[in-house]
Amino acid sequence: MNSPSNSVDWVARSLASVWHPCTQMKHHEAYPLVAIHHGEGPWLIDAAGNRFLDCISSWWTNLFGHANPKINQAIIEQLNTIEHVMLAGFTHQPVIELSERLSQLSQGHLGHAFYASDGASAVEIALKMSHHFWKIQGKSAKKKFICLQNSYHGETLGALAVTDVALFKQAYGSLLQDVYVVMSPDARQAQSKESAEDIAKRAIADLELCLQKNHTEIAALIIEPLVQCAGQMAMHSANFVQKAAALCQQYGVHLIADEIAVGCGRTGTFFACEQAGIWPDFLTLSKGISAGYLPLSVCLTRDSIYAAFYADDLNQAFLHSHSYTGNPLACRAALAGLDIFKNEQILLKNKESTKKIWEAFAWTLADERIKHVRQKGMIFAFDIHEHSIKNPETLSKELFQRGMQEGVLIRPIGQTVYVMPPYILSDTEIELMSKGICQALNKTLNTSK
Ligand SMILES: *Cc1c(COP(=O)(O)O)cnc(C)c1O
Repeated sequence: MNSPSNSVDWVARSLASVWHPCTQMKHHEAYPLVAIHHGEGPWLIDAAGNRFLDCISSWWTNLFGHANPKINQAIIEQLNTIEHVMLAGFTHQPVIELSERLSQLSQGHLGHAFYASDGASAVEIALKMSHHFWKIQGKSAKKKFICLQNSYHGETLGALAVTDVALFKQAYGSLLQDVYVVMSPDARQAQSKESAEDIAKRAIADLELCLQKNHTEIAALIIEPLVQCAGQMAMHSANFVQKAAALCQQYGVHLIADEIAVGCGRTGTFFACEQAGIWPDFLTLSKGISAGYLPLSVCLTRDSIYAAFYADDLNQAFLHSHSYTGNPLACRAALAGLDIFKNEQILLKNKESTKKIWEAFAWTLADERIKHVRQKGMIFAFDIHEHSIKNPETLSKELFQRGMQEGVLIRPIGQTVYVMPPYILSDTEIELMSKGICQALNKTLNTSK
């Protein structure tokens, strides 16, 4: 292993040459970059040998730990077979097997898989396919989309249009198509006597109003089922998803389930939609699908939608493409991940871990600095009370930095602190995660619990 001569040098060189994502680069004057040297399971290790527990699975991608021996081995074998071949006009074993297995996981409802390399591209594909499908049906007017308040679906122009996070959107408003934004079912909105179900009902009523008025020009509704992840881990009832699907059906509008963050077992079932007992018209996966190893995304759809594009006419085809579509190495990593799901009974094990995470964080329920403690499968989150926040501008960055000093990698969103760990934490690591976060809060909020 080649070790960097010193990490200070790495940081300086990075700042001089790399434009980092999702970052005001000037903030690194106060909050230094972290140069990671290697990974071991749920741990990231820097050049000086400091260890950080990756409580957020490296932006929600790394499901089975870093340097996982089984996934490493699968990629090495694939590397010695075929590293890449274009998917137009060619096919290969990893992409076939992956498509078949994803179809099986959807019980055959989503029988065709279209690939790309990142989440935003999978969302673009779903949006384009939906509109194109309606056009083929002679309904070209159906070209608009509905999204939820506080939604996040990626940051390319099409995906950003159906995203409702002002911070990411404001600079590019003039480049984006108009969309309908309807009420979020975020259960945190409940007033004194309301339940999560009441909020879901109100959100459904708002959605129905929009569909009633505009369905002739709407191609699809896009939602993130069960948890709006980048939208501060806002959770809602499965009932909302089920009712939204029924409304889409009733008004002749597609449902796109963006499961880029909530899919791959994150919420307790392999697909979040399973908990609502529905199958969408399009389902997007990325992030965890390749276990955090290689860029891969996929838009799954129904065979009936696929069939609508099947014709002699070239213009009726879905001509979208990316150079690395269906890359064999990435597909092989995904297959190795699916093997682990099956052979190691991950969904079952996660039920236990979910319980243990709740127990380890029981202190949050009695802490007056904290509100809206919530959990859905392997996502646990809470919000910091306004009265405990010293500086809202720097809160998340400070918590991040304090967390790193305690050996836990967290990346709060605004005033929401969450964990979304790899599925392989030991009981001791779950305890460390909770203690580290508690310490980070104590040091940041200046009021010990
Ligand atoms: C991360 C994310 C995306 C975008 O994926 P990228 O790979 O970052 O482009 C889209 N939708 C959801 C729900 C996400 O969490």
